[in-house]
Amino acid sequence: MGEPCILAIDQGTSSSRCVLFEADCRVVGSAQREFAQHYPASGWVEHDPEEIWSSVQSTLSDAVKLADDRSIAAIGITNQRETTLVWDRKTGACIHRAIVWQDRRTAETCESMRQDGHEALVTERTGLRLDPYFSATKIAWILDHVDGARARAEAGELAFGTVDTFLIWRLTGGAVHASDVSNASRTALFNIHTADWDDDLLALFNVPRSLMPDVRDCADDFGQATIDGKTVPIAGVAGDQQAALIGQAGLAPGVTKSTYGTGCFVLANTGSEARPSSNQLLTTIASRLDGQMAYGLEGSVFVAGSAIQWLRDEMKLIERAPDTEAIAEATGVVEDVYVVPAFAGLGAPYWDPHARGAVLGLSRGSGRDQVVTATLQAIAYQTCDLMNAMRDDGVEPSVIRVDGGMVANNWFLQFLSDVLDLPVERPVNVESTVLGAAFLAAYRVGLISSLDAVTKAWQLDRRFEPGMPANQRDALLSGWADAVGRVRASE
Ligand code: ADP
Repeated sequence: MGEPCILAIDQGTSSSRCVLFEADCRVVGSAQREFAQHYPASGWVEHDPEEIWSSVQSTLSDAVKLADDRSIAAIGITNQRETTLVWDRKTGACIHRAIVWQDRRTAETCESMRQDGHEALVTERTGLRLDPYFSATKIAWILDHVDGARARAEAGELAFGTVDTFLIWRLTGGAVHASDVSNASRTALFNIHTADWDDDLLALFNVPRSLMPDVRDCADDFGQATIDGKTVPIAGVAGDQQAALIGQAGLAPGVTKSTYGTGCFVLANTGSEARPSSNQLLTTIASRLDGQMAYGLEGSVFVAGSAIQWLRDEMKLIERAPDTEAIAEATGVVEDVYVVPAFAGLGAPYWDPHARGAVLGLSRGSGRDQVVTATLQAIAYQTCDLMNAMRDDGVEPSVIRVDGGMVANNWFLQFLSDVLDLPVERPVNVESTVLGAAFLAAYRVGLISSLDAVTKAWQLDRRFEPGMPANQRDALLSGWADAVGRVRASE
């Protein structure tokens, strides 16, 4: 057997990827498959579980081929969070399509629970909000809408899992029903203070405990997967944002990362303290290693890179996402036009599900270039709103580390640094998410002896320093606040 290596699976919202890493976390190669999104009704988003599984299987087997004579020492898994699957324990077949994190079908249920005064309990125990985003109401929806499901759940015949749990189940041939604390903390059923499923919340959301997986550390024993006839331990698991924070060497308190993919997710490590938010951010579990819990404060914006896709696919203003950089470079900062990409409502810190997008401040001279540039600016303004909320909650980062597909755009990162008035750091490896999963698995099987190795492996590609005059920044941000005020459906 040759050098040991690590396989990291990133089961994302639009594709599944599998990356093969050397023991020191250098990339050997990767494989990726996209899969279909299903929109059966307005605001509903589903994935076919068998398509998720087959895309993971085929990328795994492609990545294994890249190993040559290396031996695969462990598997790490990172995944789209909150997405909800329920399956039959005997057959392993899902009883409904996966209900994706973006799905809003339980908005009314959440609203009526909120009116009944239940949100305080949910927030106190889970750090989350009463929102369709999280798994709890999605599980109940499946139990209530699939014939006979509730009775089967009560009889212990069914299992619930977020995507990590579903993959662990399938990879171990049904031998292990487990999740990690970071994924569990996104269900709205997990008490983040006691680190256990919460009986009051299970009762409130009407979810039988028998459905729930065992919850483990992020670097732990998740059973043995069988790949190409060989058994490999599944040794690391974390939700995508938490894995990205780990990949950004964010195991230490104070590190803050912002990921720009389809959406934008800011996550700050707040250490052993679960810091409640007074600004509608989420308190969540960042990681648990060797039994040591690290909490995080998180804010998300639903639309980031997807606004660039909107410019390309719906507005047809650009041919390719990277075109936005040259356009913005040539146009310069746009001061009067504001794009508010609230296509699916507004996330933190507004949480307004009924808001919708708008382009404001057009004049006769405004054209494609202004709208494209203003769209990039909007993504930075939204990050700014999140960072202000974090500051109000007492988290004051001195630098922000960025990753995800959009951070290839230098103009965007300079503008981001300008409006945040903070340095922005882009690492050499912007694939922080899979890297985080690989680190966890490597740590568990002893390929790296300490997580300091993560800090050592983190390499700066470019640091963007703020340079915008304060009066210009203030004017832009007050124009943004005004634009957001105009699209909000509720205060
Ligand atoms: P995800 O993992 O959510 O699928 P990625 O991290 O792969 O997303 O990022 C892809 C997103 O980044 C797409 O929405 C794309 O529009 C956007 N994007 C990619 N390159 C650029 C660029 N140079 N400038 C602006 N946006 C970009």
